[in-house]
Amino acid sequence: MALNQATAHELITRLQQREITARELVQATLDRISAVDGQINAFISIDAEGALTHADEIDRRRAKNEPLGPLAGIPLALKDVLCVRGGRTTCGSKILEHYIAPYDATVVAQLRAADAIIIGKTNMDEFAMGSSCENSYFGPTLNPRDPERVPGGSSGGSAAAVAADETILALGTDTGGSVRQPAGYCGVVGLKPTYGRVSRYGLVAYASSLDQIGPISKDVEDTALLLQAIAGHDPRDSTSIDAPVANYLAEFKDGIKGLKVGLAQEHFPAGLDAEVATAAQSAAATLADAGAELVDVQLPVAGHPEYCIGTYYLIAMGEASANLTRYDGVKYGHRAEGDLNLQEMYLRTRSEGFGEEVKRRIMLGTYALSAGYYDAYYRKAQQVRTLIRQDFEKAFTACDILLSPVAPTTAFRLGEQTDDPLQMYLNDIYTASVNLAGIPGISVPYANGADGLPIGVQLLAPPLEEAKLLRMAYALERTTA
Ligand code: GLN
Repeated sequence: MALNQATAHELITRLQQREITARELVQATLDRISAVDGQINAFISIDAEGALTHADEIDRRRAKNEPLGPLAGIPLALKDVLCVRGGRTTCGSKILEHYIAPYDATVVAQLRAADAIIIGKTNMDEFAMGSSCENSYFGPTLNPRDPERVPGGSSGGSAAAVAADETILALGTDTGGSVRQPAGYCGVVGLKPTYGRVSRYGLVAYASSLDQIGPISKDVEDTALLLQAIAGHDPRDSTSIDAPVANYLAEFKDGIKGLKVGLAQEHFPAGLDAEVATAAQSAAATLADAGAELVDVQLPVAGHPEYCIGTYYLIAMGEASANLTRYDGVKYGHRAEGDLNLQEMYLRTRSEGFGEEVKRRIMLGTYALSAGYYDAYYRKAQQVRTLIRQDFEKAFTACDILLSPVAPTTAFRLGEQTDDPLQMYLNDIYTASVNLAGIPGISVPYANGADGLPIGVQLLAPPLEEAKLLRMAYALERTTA
């Protein structure tokens, strides 16, 4: 097997045993990027020189038996919404096409401390708004499993890069499903941690009360490794949770005997794609064979698309409209040229700099927050959000883990949903409620559809129960092997 096809945990052992060097490994991923990324378009920027220099440094330190971090020499790709000092951070947008970040995101600093090697920045829906990776100023990313299909979004570049063996590990961000859904569409593992478990400092904000950074990898063990490196309290993020970080690698192979897995009938409505429903049900049955107990639970609000999609999009767009006011041509990014007064400069800069979907959301979000409409839309959405959180709290009194599909279908065709935003938003029916509740969720590849495309299964846990979530995910991964 080529080096770039292996998992991080296998490669870490081979690096430690000096069977391979970090340079060989980085070179293998760069060669793969050169060979396939012209077609897949998973990357916006690639730092070949920086990555090779870093690899040589790791190899030198290893030769001298100096202490190395847990991810020493492992190539990693970052969604292009995470700031890397001195490098370009575009957010998939024309408005930030030439923006150079002046500082490192906390996760980037943590990854450097772990001695991971950053090889590049991945493509994404503009400002993380989308479910297909088609809303990028840098063109769409294609699904490595079928280039006529989308990879999912918004972290489509990160998921595709892992699935195409262009990187070993990647980080994405998940506001309403953007790590889990592309992981599901590309057949890799994606985890959204508990809100506040991973610092958002240096993550360009989309919807601040929902955004979380999460690992994308080839297997559950790699997800645990990467989460271990980035979890923890950060005084620079006021929403960061000041609680000890569990040892995610300690127990996740311990089995699932006695754990209760909840299934909500609301997640299996009449008319749900039969393959998607069957995959989730058969995943539950195999977990029962492995020792879990299956229980029925109810999610009367969180399980209903008309509540959770409406609530999610009202809150996400409201927060986005506020967060994106900073892009006005004064301090950041693109500025319209010409003999313009201030008002005209703002207007033209934003009209030229943002794409269609971002503009739609700024307008809808501003409307929902405006005087006279606030109570009917934004405040109401906040109230329903509380009900959604309570739904999950109640369900978790009866089970340890909830199991559901990740998305209602397998990866759809490029262009198939671009003219129908509402249809596109419905891709998030299983994932968005999870961000509204702030709980952790993971997408594990489980089956293949008749079209040969991967079908993922989603597992959810109460806040800060990532260790238990990974244990269940590991058991599920074993049943599919
Ligand atoms: N598809 C959802 C949206 O467009 C989720 C995106 C995300 O998680 N960043 O808002």
